[in-house]
Order: sequence, then structure tokens, then C-alpha cells
Amino acid sequence: MTAHIIDGKQVAATLRAELATRIASLGFRPGLAVVLVGDDPASAVYVRNKDRAAGGVGIAARTIRLPMATTQADLLAVIADLNADGDVDGILVQLPLPAHFDQAAVINAIDPAKDVDGLTPTNAGLLAAGVPHLVPCTPKGVMKLLAAAGITLRGTRALVLGRSVLVGKPVAALLTAADATVTLAHSRTRDLAAECRRAEVLVAAVGRPEMVRADWVADGATVIDVGINRLADGRLVGDVAFDECRAVAGAITPVPGGVGPMTIACLLENTLLAALSRRR
Ligand code: NDP
Repeated sequence: MTAHIIDGKQVAATLRAELATRIASLGFRPGLAVVLVGDDPASAVYVRNKDRAAGGVGIAARTIRLPMATTQADLLAVIADLNADGDVDGILVQLPLPAHFDQAAVINAIDPAKDVDGLTPTNAGLLAAGVPHLVPCTPKGVMKLLAAAGITLRGTRALVLGRSVLVGKPVAALLTAADATVTLAHSRTRDLAAECRRAEVLVAAVGRPEMVRADWVADGATVIDVGINRLADGRLVGDVAFDECRAVAGAITPVPGGVGPMTIACLLENTLLAALSRRR
């Protein structure tokens, strides 16, 4: 079998076009503020892409660039200003923050109504309670890719590889809410390969290049690869060995061009949702 390739670029482009149409009819421009601290080049690229994508759908985006020497108190003051700013519907603090910040406290300071990354305890709690409001962007993108590929989740055995607050845990919560039977695996899971082989839907979010091999994948399974890993030779690969797994899987996402484009599109959707619910 050769797997159906789930085209994240295409699904993200369709979502952005829908968002642009909805935003054009609003009569106002939703506002997104992205806070970037320090000079990490990868973060700077992500922020530039977010800015460009926001402008493309009619969102008024601004980036607040702060020097490495910014203190926790300075950053909290910036967030307080953005919380109070009526033109700002969404606030995103680009992660990871430099090591001298208490990241949890910074996230906690964001008004949950403007938390378009879905990471505040309030939004994480709403998701865990089964009444999601602003859902983390990458997990939301994973669910949209599964929907776009027509994958049935009800009653399906799903395995999420990785239990981070950013990706693994919210993906597991969303799959559970969609009536899948979910195993959440991590670095202490015994016989990971056997656990993976039982899954009809496998979501990999570990940050280990090409860790998932063909003999970890059940015949016909759907494989969603969240991983983004830069190899020493400059190549970008996922957590799944794509070329060998596509020969076994029923459907699979590539890296790049799978989950990545969905993350930004879902950030834009969250900004629209935040704007609509704040201004209701
Ligand atoms: P984290 O490092 O926060 O979490 C990794 C998880 O994988 C942990 O739960 C860890 O287990 C588990 N893990 C690590 N090594 C192993 C192993 N050998 N066997 C089993 N489990 C293991 O990563 P993130 O969740 O933030 O990101 C995961 C990947 O997704 C990265 O490649 C990242 O770049 C990518 N990513 C992509 C995005 C996109 O837009 N496409 C957005 C966000 C992330 P334990 O908890 O036991 O330590």
C-alpha cells in the first residue's frame, strides 16, 4: 500500500481563504500582538511568517520585539498593557522564552480571552473539562488534518506519542473528545513500538528525528507527524521515517508541508474566534 499524503499546505490555504472571507465581512480588523524576546533566529522566522499570514487574511498584526535583557517584570508589564488594549484580540508570546524567564508565570499573565495559543491554565482547563474555548494551535491543526482526510475517530484506537503541554496532552484531549480511545505514550512507555503498532491513528510529537519506523506502524494506519527536526546536513525531517512509513500507512502527513502550515492557520482562526467572543 502507498499512503494517501495529507497535504497540510492545501488544507491550511483553504482555511486561510475561509478566514479572509469571514474577516472581510466583519466591519473591523481583529488584532493580534506577537511578543518576541531575544534574538533566536528560528523564533524570528516563525514570527515573521505569523505576521505575514495574519496580514494576508486581514488581521492587524503587530510584533513587539524585546531585547534579551528584558526582565520578567518588564515582560509582565508589556502583557498587562496588551491585556488592557481594546484593539488587541489575541496575544501570543513566542516560545521558548530565554532561560531567565519564568515561562509559566508569563503565560499565566495573559488574559485567557486573548490567549490565542490556548496555553493559559484557564484554556487548558476548559479543554480538559471537555468545553474547549481557545485550543492550542498545533493540536487544533492536527484535528483539522484528520477531518480533511476523512478519518473516522469514533471508536478508533489512537496513540499520541509525546505528552507535552503544548502538543501531546491537548491532542490526546481532543481525540478523546472526538470519541477515539486514546493512549498517551512518552519516554517511560514500555515497548513503544508494540503500543504504536496497535494504533489506527498515530500522532507523533516527540522531537526525535525519524524515530517512528515502518515496523511501528499498523497496515493502513493514519500517521500525523508533528515533529520538526533540523538535521546536521540542514534537512528538515519529522519524528516519522516518512519514506518507509508511507509504504505501510493508509494516510500520512509529510514534513515539511503537513502539520506546520496548519499551526499558523489555526492561530489566525483563534484570533478571529477571540475577536468575535470579546466583542459579542
Ligand atoms: P517536548 O520536548 O516538550 O515533548 C516531547 C515529548 O516526547 C515528551 O513527552 C517526551 O517524554 C517524549 N519523548 C521524548 N523522547 C522520547 C522517546 N525516546 N521515546 C518516547 N517518548 C519520548 O516537545 P513538543 O511537544 O513541544 O514538540 C514535539 C515536536 O513537535 C518537536 O519536534 C517540535 O519541534 C514539534 N513541534 C511542531 C510544531 C508544528 O507547528 N508543527 C509546533 C510545536 C512543536 P517525557 O514527557 O517522558 O519526557
